[in-house]
Amino acid sequence: MKIAIVGTGYVGLVSGTCFAEVGHEVICVDNDKKKVATLQAGQIPIYEPGLEDLIKKNVAAGRLKFTDSIKEGVEKSLVVFIAVPTPPQPDGSVDLTYIEKVAREIAAVMTEYRVIVDKSTVPVKTGDRVTQTIARYTQGKVEFDVVSNPEFLREGSAVADLMNPDRVVVGTDSERATAIMKEIYEPFKAPIMVTDLNSAELIKHAANSFLALKISYINAVSIICEMSGANVDMVAEGMGADKRIGRAFLNAGIGYGGSCFPKDLSAFTKISEDLGYDFRLLKEVSEINRIQKNRFLKQIRDTLWVLKDKKIGVLGLAFKGNTDDVRSSVAMDLVELMQREGAIVRAYDPQGMEKAKSLLPNIVYCNKAEEVAEGVEALVVATEWNEFKDLDWKSMKSKMISPHLFDGRNLLDPQKMRDIGFDYYSIGRS
Ligand code: NAD
Repeated sequence: MKIAIVGTGYVGLVSGTCFAEVGHEVICVDNDKKKVATLQAGQIPIYEPGLEDLIKKNVAAGRLKFTDSIKEGVEKSLVVFIAVPTPPQPDGSVDLTYIEKVAREIAAVMTEYRVIVDKSTVPVKTGDRVTQTIARYTQGKVEFDVVSNPEFLREGSAVADLMNPDRVVVGTDSERATAIMKEIYEPFKAPIMVTDLNSAELIKHAANSFLALKISYINAVSIICEMSGANVDMVAEGMGADKRIGRAFLNAGIGYGGSCFPKDLSAFTKISEDLGYDFRLLKEVSEINRIQKNRFLKQIRDTLWVLKDKKIGVLGLAFKGNTDDVRSSVAMDLVELMQREGAIVRAYDPQGMEKAKSLLPNIVYCNKAEEVAEGVEALVVATEWNEFKDLDWKSMKSKMISPHLFDGRNLLDPQKMRDIGFDYYSIGRS
């Protein structure tokens, strides 16, 4: 199958690569000429485990190409995926200008039947708008179908998620488009769920909001654990062993961040409001998330008192482990809040530092995790990178002025840390 992907970011690049890996011919299109040049030169602009090797292999096999010309992509492909940003606006609604622009651009160069597949996360009924837009700009002269195919990959395990999806959602009323989509996804051996367009779009927002809800739920439970002397890890294990609940997304911590959950939750809240329903449950999910971060910061403040001029070390800046993505990261928020109070922040992240530098240039960036501990009054674990577990924590402690350790991801063993001599604080575990 000949496929174009418009938007070569986390979703576009990884899905394009995985489509090529199963044998399709893929052209990834991006209007960021620098990004395209980087990719054409064999460099990979994002970090995802396993991605680099897969890109190199498929480029060498001639199945994966990069271009800044949407015309080339649309001309050479039967199916055109849209994977451009859908960022939030100040009122929580989704900025759909990128989608609208790409729809117009596709229409302008489309001369024969194409399947336009929206992979970006969009509000319900966006597909109808895309259909109207393409029909308008082709003046009804070219046949096409619009499909919603939301993406469920997780950054940090995007390649594995795309190669082995739990399910593939295909939203369309067209039999012709359904057959084409089934052919694209057949090699992935995953259940394909065909729905109408609106339902497919809603599945994505409803699913992400539910996952955020699970995180906020366990975080609220962690507060009760702290107040009652219970242990949230044990509570989560006990709950998660019930197949109806499941253990995933029941890890207490300083809250969810990233480029998807916060924006998708506010989008779904706003979509519901616009349709006439006040989805208060979702508002509470966001509120618990905000409170969780502030409670953690308060704990740091209660321990160190005034933060002004205090050196604080932060381990992790990415919004979660195994990614370089720092967009809407709670770790970055914490750093910013502590800096606002005058703290001098030293930090290290295995992959996220380059991207963090452009957003928060005033951090003292360290070359290794061990350097972060030098001369600090407290250490904060803000991202759940596995390598932080294996640090020589005795040596870390010896470099610090005072042994305060705030584990915002419940990554470390409380007893071990206390045995080393840390004044150790984590979430919901006394
Ligand atoms: P991204 O910012 O990493 O990438 C988007 C790319 O689109 C950028 O490279 C940008 O240059 C390009 N672009 C913008 N306008 C363009 C245009 N007119 N023509 C060509 N290229 C254009 O974004 P992302 O994280 O890949 O997210 C894309 C969509 O997928 C969003 O709707 C997001 O919500 C959704 N999504 C993201 C994830 C995730 O984990 N990142 C997971 C599932 C769904």
